[in-house]
Amino acid sequence: MIRGRFAPSPTGALHLGNARTALLAWLHARAHGGAFIMRVEDLDSGRVRAGIMERQLDELRWLGLDWDEGPDVGGPHAPYIQSQRQERYDAALRRLAERGLLFECTCSRKDIAQAASAPHEGEEGPRYPGSCRDRLVDPSVPSLMAHGRADFALRVRVEPGAICFADGVMGDCCFDPAAETGDFVVRRKDGAAAYQLAVVVDDAAMGVTHVVRGADLLSSTARQILLCRALELPVPAFVHVPLMLGADGERLAKRHGAVSLGELREAGVPPERVSGWLAATCGLAAPGEEIAPAGLVARFGVARLSTAPTTVSEAHLVRLRGDGGPG
Ligand code: GLU
Repeated sequence: MIRGRFAPSPTGALHLGNARTALLAWLHARAHGGAFIMRVEDLDSGRVRAGIMERQLDELRWLGLDWDEGPDVGGPHAPYIQSQRQERYDAALRRLAERGLLFECTCSRKDIAQAASAPHEGEEGPRYPGSCRDRLVDPSVPSLMAHGRADFALRVRVEPGAICFADGVMGDCCFDPAAETGDFVVRRKDGAAAYQLAVVVDDAAMGVTHVVRGADLLSSTARQILLCRALELPVPAFVHVPLMLGADGERLAKRHGAVSLGELREAGVPPERVSGWLAATCGLAAPGEEIAPAGLVARFGVARLSTAPTTVSEAHLVRLRGDGGPG
């Protein structure tokens, strides 16, 4: 059986882009008669805000989504909140250490930027130059694995080579993490598991078969496959759905006006208009059609999704808010 998930980070309001990704992940699972899991990714404690998780879940329900497992409904793989799953990440770190892949890194961002000989400033900063890669973690020294603040991060060694996968929307993709990011962080200096590790451990533990998420995470996928292999975990299928951009080509954000689910809800916009509008941006509904997610299940197919980002104009957003009539 197909098992899908949506994994919001409770760091801010859910905007239309997040909502569309959630809708598509939900449609993918439901169209296949599969289960849908809600998992809260709250490991970035510096950015997590109290009360946001509850709000996000409430807004997703308002939109018409439901889930079979999640923080508020429980399930066989509880807890569904990452900050409560630390021992699972620690166990994975120990396995990486046992394979001789884990090392301590005391480098600051500045050190890395300065040491990077050919400054390859990608979205995630310069490639890690390997400065600390010989400081392998001895898995028999428990204090090294104990979590809590430390003056080092833990990185995993990455050997050169392309990692290829067939993405459900984006097609055949290949990345070479050694060339792009280099050895990457799996446990941060604050003791928390890094996103790349936590997502792999949790998707496997929760039996996720299909990862449907935004295309901004496409390049992370290679690192995640690498971790799956190192940890001998099954590699899920990946379906990266296009991002939604404002007319200026930037990701939809506050400056584009009221684009959060909460604002639309408070403005009295009916949820079927929002789900219909989201579906129309990816060809699953007619412009102006008001339709709840359940009504879209029979129409869904990944083949209908474009690989290009969706640009939404100001006029398009105005129509959603209802101040310019339906459409
Ligand atoms: N928590 C991540 C985010 O909100 C999503 C991670 C994922 O879907 O793999 O961007």
